[in-house]
Amino acid sequence: MNAQDFITLEESYGAHNYKPLDVVLSKGRGVWVWDVDGAKYMDCLAAYSAVNQGHCHPRILQAMTEQAQKLTLTSRAFRNDQLGLFYKEICELTNSHKVLPMNTGAEAVESVIKTVRKWGYEVKGVPDNQAEIIVCDNNFHGRTISIVGFSSDHKAKTGFGPFPPGFTSIPFGDVQALERAITPNTVAFLVEPIQGEAGVIIPPDGYLREAQKICRQNNVVLILDEIQTGLGRTGKLLAEEHDGIEADLTLVGKALSGGFYPVSAVLSNSEVMGTLRPGEHGSTFGGNPLACAVAREALKVLVQEGMIDNAARMGQRFLDGLKTLTNPLIKEIRGRGLMIGLEFLPQAGPARPLCIQLKKKGLLCKDTHGQTIRFAPPLVITPDEVDWAVETIKEVVDG
Ligand SMILES: *Cc1c(COP(=O)(O)O)cnc(C)c1O
Repeated sequence: MNAQDFITLEESYGAHNYKPLDVVLSKGRGVWVWDVDGAKYMDCLAAYSAVNQGHCHPRILQAMTEQAQKLTLTSRAFRNDQLGLFYKEICELTNSHKVLPMNTGAEAVESVIKTVRKWGYEVKGVPDNQAEIIVCDNNFHGRTISIVGFSSDHKAKTGFGPFPPGFTSIPFGDVQALERAITPNTVAFLVEPIQGEAGVIIPPDGYLREAQKICRQNNVVLILDEIQTGLGRTGKLLAEEHDGIEADLTLVGKALSGGFYPVSAVLSNSEVMGTLRPGEHGSTFGGNPLACAVAREALKVLVQEGMIDNAARMGQRFLDGLKTLTNPLIKEIRGRGLMIGLEFLPQAGPARPLCIQLKKKGLLCKDTHGQTIRFAPPLVITPDEVDWAVETIKEVVDG
C-alpha cells in the first residue's frame, strides 16, 4: 500500500471531522517523524504538545511495555500499585494536594466543572443549580457538549445544541472584565494561561496574578487549563510560574503521557476536591495502572533530562531566529518557550498553503485560526535542529 491508498481508506471509511495534511506517518523518534515512503520530517506540532518528551521516548516506552506485561486495568472498583505512587509524585512535583485522574483533556475539563459546581453549592452556598463559571472568548477546552457550548468558535458549536447553561464568556486578558462578570453565584474562572488553539495568544504581563487576586477577593476558584501550556511547553513546568502564582485547580493532560496513552488529571491546590464523594464521579480507565506507570515515567524524563530548561533556551533561539524574517505580510511573531506563533496580516490569505510548502521541505506544522502558524516541536530539540527549522521557514516565508 502507498500513501494514497492509506488516504483513500481514511477518506472512504472515516468521519470527516479533520482535514489533515496529506502526510502518512509510520515512525517517530525524538523531534523527527517518517512517512510511509521513508521521507523524514521535523514535527513542529508535537501532537498539539502531547509529545513534549519526543516521539517514542525510550524510557517511557520501557515503562509502558513493562507495565503492560504485568497489569493494565483494574477499574477503580479495586486498588492498584501504581495509582498511589502517581498521585504522590505528581503532587510533589506540582505542589498540589489532591489529584483526580482522567483520560482525555476534555474529561479533565468536565470533571473540574462538576467539582467546582459541587464546591459552589456545598461550601460557597450558591443556590441549587445557579452556579456560574466564567470563561474567556476564543477559549479552547475540548469538544464535549458542555465545553463547545461555552466556546465562541461557531464551527465548534453550531449544530450541536442545546447546551448546558451556567457559563459566561469575557474577553481574554482583561481583568476589569473579570471583575465585572463576577456575581454572587460565580464559582470559578476557567482560563488558559496562553490561548493555544486561538493562535498562541499571550495575555498582558501579570494577568494571571491579577486574576487570582480578583478571584480570591470574591471567593471564586481559579482554574488554569494547562493541558497545552503545562509540562514544560512554555519553559516552566507549569505556565502559571511565569506569573508567580499557584492556581486553585490546574488541568494537565496531553504530555502527561508523553504521547503514549491518554492520561489527564485535575490537580487541586485547595479544598475544592474534598467535596467529591464515592459514586459521584468516575471513569473506567481513569487512574489505571498502565496510565499511571506511563505518566510517572513521562514526568520523570521531563525533569531528569532537562527538557523544561531546554524548552526555555530553544524557544528563545527559535523566536530570535524567526524575528529575522523579512516578509512584509508578517503581523507578529510571539511565543513563550517552545509555544510559538507566527501571525500573518489578513491580506496574506490563509496560512495553510505555507504549511503545505513547509511539509515539502520536511517540516510539519499547522495553521490555527487561519492566519497564524504555530511552532511547537518536542522539547528535546537541539540548537542545530532549531537553526535548521528557522532556515527552512525562512526559505518558505521570505521566498
Ligand atoms: C487539547 C486541549 C484540550 C482537550 O484535550 P483532549 O485530550 O483533546 O480532550 C483542552 N484544553 C486545552 C487547552 C487543550 O489544548
